[in-house]
Amino acid sequence: MKNINTPVNNLRLHWGNIFGIVMIHILALAAIPFFNWHALIVCGVLFFIISPVGVTLTYHRLLSHRSFKVPQWLEYTLVTFGAFSGQGPVLIWVAEHRLHHRFSDTRNDPHSARHGGFWWSHVTHLFYHKDFEDNEKEWSRYIPDLTCHKYYHVLSKYNFLVAFSLAPILYFMGGMPFVMWGIFMRIALMLHVTWFVNSATHRFGYRNFDTKDDSSNVWWVALLAAGEGWHNNHHAQSNCAAHGRMWWEFDLTWQLIKGLEALGLATDVKRPVAVYKVQECEIDNSIEVKEDEFGNDFIGKHQEEYLPEAIIA
Ligand SMILES: [Zn+2]
Ligand SMILES: [Zn+2]
Repeated sequence: MKNINTPVNNLRLHWGNIFGIVMIHILALAAIPFFNWHALIVCGVLFFIISPVGVTLTYHRLLSHRSFKVPQWLEYTLVTFGAFSGQGPVLIWVAEHRLHHRFSDTRNDPHSARHGGFWWSHVTHLFYHKDFEDNEKEWSRYIPDLTCHKYYHVLSKYNFLVAFSLAPILYFMGGMPFVMWGIFMRIALMLHVTWFVNSATHRFGYRNFDTKDDSSNVWWVALLAAGEGWHNNHHAQSNCAAHGRMWWEFDLTWQLIKGLEALGLATDVKRPVAVYKVQECEIDNSIEVKEDEFGNDFIGKHQEEYLPEAIIA
């Protein structure tokens, strides 16, 4: 695979992203004087629906890792829902995330905390152009299963319109307080929660698996991001639909996926192959990490032959 230039070495400011991120924070601060309890509830309800269903279940586990399948009509519906998150074009979101897993914590990782530090991995990497992002041919190579859908190109092109499309409905329901809290405050909070999965869970927390990267499990990120904080588990077997592995590692998104499966809407759900606590076992660092066609790696599978006792939640 061709090497992709690290964004750290290519510091060209991305004024579009800078403007968008600064504006969403200014508008989130501007929401404070509009506070009322109903607006806060609207913000909370939209946050706790769009974040688990749109971002973690759909953008991450369904699209990025193909950890389960749903009928095409439902996938389109869920991805539309994800576009309410205001997290940019879905095609870039998924391509960048697959790249992150492919090159985790190396110089080719789009947001390596090891090389750029906490704030780089959290947000400032977005302030710079990345070579692969500017080159459609380049990022398309990572997402052939998505680029063949015209609908995802349309959603990506008009992602801002979709993100703000709830505004007229909210205005009709509760005026400006609902718009300011239900759109701007909620999008800003959701961005930081998603960004913590790139930053905090590559810097703090504990590890169940001796993965090649610095990924870790952070309980408060797991709570805020519907299970995504069990990030070390995720890097160990990235195509697994369940991120929580130990009994205390509650994973709301996994519960939602199991719900879809019970309804017959989710099929081919990838389950944990094995779970081991690193400190209880000998890890052979020479274990080769294999990948599937979506770039998912499988540490756990390869540990299985060495460590027979599984602790599967
Ligand atoms: Zn990661
Ligand atoms: Zn992932």
